Amino acid sequence: MQPNFLYQDLSAIDRQLGIESLPIAAALIDADCSLIIENAAFAALTAGFRTGSPNLMDWLHPEDRPIFLAALSSAFGGLTTSNLEIRFGTSQNRATCLAALSSQVADASGLKAVVQLTDISVLKATIADLEISASRWNNALRSSLSGVWDQRFDGQLYYSDVWRELRGMAPDDPIPTTTEEWLEMVHPQDRERTLHCIARQNAGDPDYTVFQYRERHKDGHYIWIECRGACVEWDENGQPARITGTDTDVTARKEQEEWLERISRRLKLALDVSRIGVFETDFAAGTSDWDDSMRRIFEVKQGDNIRIGEFWESKLHPDDRERTIAHVEERISKLEPFTDEYRIIADDGSVRYIRSNSLPYIDHDGHLKMIGVNWDVSEDHRLRQELERAKTLTEARNAELEQTRAKAEYSALHDYLTGLPNRRYLEAKLDEWQKSTTNTFGRLAVLHVDLDRFKQINDTLGHSAGDAMLKHAAGILRTNIRTGDFVARIGGDEFVLLVAFDGKAKTLSQLADRIIAELSQPVAYDGHQCRFGASIGISHSDGDIIDPQQMLLYADIALYNAKNLGRNRHEFYSQGSRKILANHRRLSDDLLRALENNEIVPFYQLQFDARSRAVVGAECLARWQHPEHGLLTPDRFLPIAEEMSVLARIDGLILEKALVDFRQWRAMGMGIPKISVNVSAKRLNDPRLPQLLTDLGIEPGIVSFELLETVFLDSHDAVAMSNLAHLRDLGIDIEIDDFGTGHASIVGLLNLKPKTLKIDRQLIHKLPSSQEQRVLAKSIIGIAKSLNIRVIAEGVETEDHVTILKKLGCHTLQGFGLAMPMDFTATTQFLINSK
Ligand code: C2E
Ligand code: CA
Ligand code: CA
Repeated sequence: MQPNFLYQDLSAIDRQLGIESLPIAAALIDADCSLIIENAAFAALTAGFRTGSPNLMDWLHPEDRPIFLAALSSAFGGLTTSNLEIRFGTSQNRATCLAALSSQVADASGLKAVVQLTDISVLKATIADLEISASRWNNALRSSLSGVWDQRFDGQLYYSDVWRELRGMAPDDPIPTTTEEWLEMVHPQDRERTLHCIARQNAGDPDYTVFQYRERHKDGHYIWIECRGACVEWDENGQPARITGTDTDVTARKEQEEWLERISRRLKLALDVSRIGVFETDFAAGTSDWDDSMRRIFEVKQGDNIRIGEFWESKLHPDDRERTIAHVEERISKLEPFTDEYRIIADDGSVRYIRSNSLPYIDHDGHLKMIGVNWDVSEDHRLRQELERAKTLTEARNAELEQTRAKAEYSALHDYLTGLPNRRYLEAKLDEWQKSTTNTFGRLAVLHVDLDRFKQINDTLGHSAGDAMLKHAAGILRTNIRTGDFVARIGGDEFVLLVAFDGKAKTLSQLADRIIAELSQPVAYDGHQCRFGASIGISHSDGDIIDPQQMLLYADIALYNAKNLGRNRHEFYSQGSRKILANHRRLSDDLLRALENNEIVPFYQLQFDARSRAVVGAECLARWQHPEHGLLTPDRFLPIAEEMSVLARIDGLILEKALVDFRQWRAMGMGIPKISVNVSAKRLNDPRLPQLLTDLGIEPGIVSFELLETVFLDSHDAVAMSNLAHLRDLGIDIEIDDFGTGHASIVGLLNLKPKTLKIDRQLIHKLPSSQEQRVLAKSIIGIAKSLNIRVIAEGVETEDHVTILKKLGCHTLQGFGLAMPMDFTATTQFLINSK
C-alpha cells in the first residue's frame, strides 16, 4: 500500500514567515545545516532527539548524514528533493522521517533551505511488523505444504509457490484463467461436487469451509486436495468479490483413510460373517463394550449395559466358572494375551461352547483394559463330538472286522477242535520252509503221528469221548515240541509235527518214544479210563533240498510201516519202507477182492478142559488164504480191514463159515461143544447185529463172543448195551478177551455179566518165572469164581503153564502147547486123532 503523504507547496515558504503557520513540521536551515527558523510542529517532532547543537546534522543518524548533505547541496543547486527517508536520533529516541528539501532565498544573507519533515516512525514499525507476520505465514504455509490462493473477481489472481509445487508446476507455468479451464484439471468424478462446494463456500456456508477433491498433477496422476477457503470481499450487490484460502495435498492422508476404511470394511465383513463377537472392557470404568454379535451370543437384552464382574460370570457353566475366571484373572495380572474355551448356559438351558481370544493392555492414560473376541463353537463341538463318535464307531467296526477277518483266517488255518494248525496251514508252512533258505529247510524232520485204537474209542464211547481224546493228544504233542517247531492236526486222528532236525536220528527217536509213552497213558473220561496209543512215521532231510510234499509222503510211508510192525511204535522212512507201503496198498486192494473170493477163512484153535484135557471148544481165528503171499495171519490184514471198515464184515463172515464147519463136525459125530468168535467194536455197535444173528439160527449155548476187555468193559453205548442183551436172549455167551491187560474194572465186569474170562497170553507167559504174576492170576481166578465166571487161559505153550494153571483152578486151556490154529481139515483130523 502506498503511504499517502502530503507536503506543502514550496511557494508558501517563499513568504518566509509563513513557516510557522504550516500544518507540517518545517524549518529553515542555512548551508551548514544550522537551524534558522522552525515551526512548533518541527520543534515537537524533533524534541526527542534534538541535541544542544543547533546544527540539524548532529541530530541525524550518522549513517544518514551523507544522503542528507547530498540532498541539501542538490537543493542549493536548485533541485528539490522530496520523500528522502532519514533517521534521526540514536538508541533511545529515534524517528524515521520523510524529508523534503528545497532552496529558498530568504534574505540578503544568501540561500537558505526549507526542510519539511513527516514522522513515519509508526508507519515503519507497522510495516516491519507486517513483514514479520507475512514471512511467518509464508513459512508456516510452506512447511504445512499448503498453497495459498487469492482470487479477486476483477481478475487479480495470486497463487503461492507451494500452490504450484503441489501440482508439479514451475513458477512460470501458466495457470488456468477461467473456471472451465481449471475444471479440466479436476477429476471427472469430482467436478460436479466440487463446483457445488465452491458455490457453497462462496456463499459463506460454514459446512463448506473445507472440502476435498482430486486434481490432476502435472505428471498426470491425481492428487487429493483439501481446499480451505472463504469469501473475504463482496461487491455492492452482495456478490463475492474476493475469495482466498489454502490448498493442501492430502493424498497420503486420503490413501491412509481409504486403506483404513478398506481394512475396517473387511474386518466388519469378517466379523459379520464369522459371527465373532468383539468386546472391550475398561476396568477403571467398570464397563464392557460389547458389539452385536457378542450380545447375540450371550443373549444380552436390548439396551442392557454390561457391568464387569456380573453378567459374563453369571452366564458361565457352573462346572467351568471357577477355572475360567481364575484363568482370565491370572492372564490379566500378567498382561498376557490368552485363548480359552468354556461353556455358558443359554436362556433355554442349553449349553453353548465359547472360544475366546483376549488381550489385556494398559492404555495411554494408564488404564487397564482388555479387548477380545468370543465366538460360539457349539456347532464345531457337536460336529467334533459326532466325528469322534463316528470315528470310535468306525474304529470299533474296523476292529470287529479285523477280528472277524483274523478269526476267519485263524479258523481257515486251524482245527476247530484242538486249536492246532490244520492241513492247509501245514502246507503253507511247508511252502514257506521250502522258500526260505536251503539251510533251514535242510534241517527239517517230519513226524506223522497216528493214534492207535482211536476208532474204537470213538465207536464205543461216542464222539464226545473221541473229541476229548483228540484234545488230550493235541495237548501232549504241543508240550513236546520246541519253539519254532510246528504241529498240525491233518484230519481224524492224524497229526504232523515239523521239527528242527539236528542231524541225529536218535533225537527224533527219543522224541517219538516220549510222545508214544505219553499218549499211551490212560485218560479219564466221564468216569472211564480210556486207552489208546500212537504210531509215528518219521522222515528227515539231511541237507538235500527235498520237496516238502515228498517228506510228508515219506513220513506217511514210515507211519504205515510202524503200524504194520505192530503199532505203538515209531519207524523211520527207508527205501524198504516204500516196499512195505506198496505191499500194504496192494493188500488193501486185494482185501476187497479177497472178501468176494472167499479167501478169508476161519482157523480153529481148540480149547481143552484143564483137568480132563477134553476138547471143550474152539476159537475161530481169521486167516487170509492169499493167492500170492500164502496164508496171512490177522496182524497182516486186520489193521487194513479196520481202516477200510470191513472188520465187522470179516467177523460176520468168520462166524457164518465157522457155523457151517461146526454143523458139519456135528454131523460127522465128533462135535465140539461150542465155538467162540472174535467181535470187533464196530460189529458190537452195529444196530443190525441182532437181526443178522437171528437169521443165522444159532442154537443157544454153542457160540461165544470174545469181546476185548479194554473196549467193551467201558462201553455204555445204548446200541452196544441192547445188542449185548440180545446176545443173551439168543443164548450167545460173552467172553472177555485179553483180560489182565486192559485194566477192566471189577465193577465193569459185573455189569457185563460175562460167561468167561480169557486171561491174556502175556500174563500166562510169565507165570513160571514170576511169583508176582502167579499171585495176580490166582486172584483173577478167585474173583471170577466168586462171580461164577469161568476162566480160560490162552497162550498155553508149555507143560509148566498147564501145571500151574491147573493148580490155580483155571477151567480151560488154549495155546500152541495144546493145539495150533488149524483149518477145517486139520482140525477134523485132530479131532479124529484125539478120539
Ligand atoms: P486173540 O483173540 O488173542 O487170539 C489168539 C491169538 O493168540 C491168535 O493169533 C493165536 O494164534 C495166538 N496164540 C494161540 N496160542 C498161542 C500161544 O501158545 N502162544 C502165542 N504166542 N500165541 C498163541 P492170531 O490168530 O494171529 O490172531 C490174532 C488176533 O487177531 C486175535 O487175538 C484176535 O484179537 C484177532 N482176530 C483173529 N481173528 C479175528 C476175527 O475173525 N475177528 C476179529 N475181530 N479179530 C480176530
Ligand atoms: Ca480171541
Ligand atoms: Ca486173546
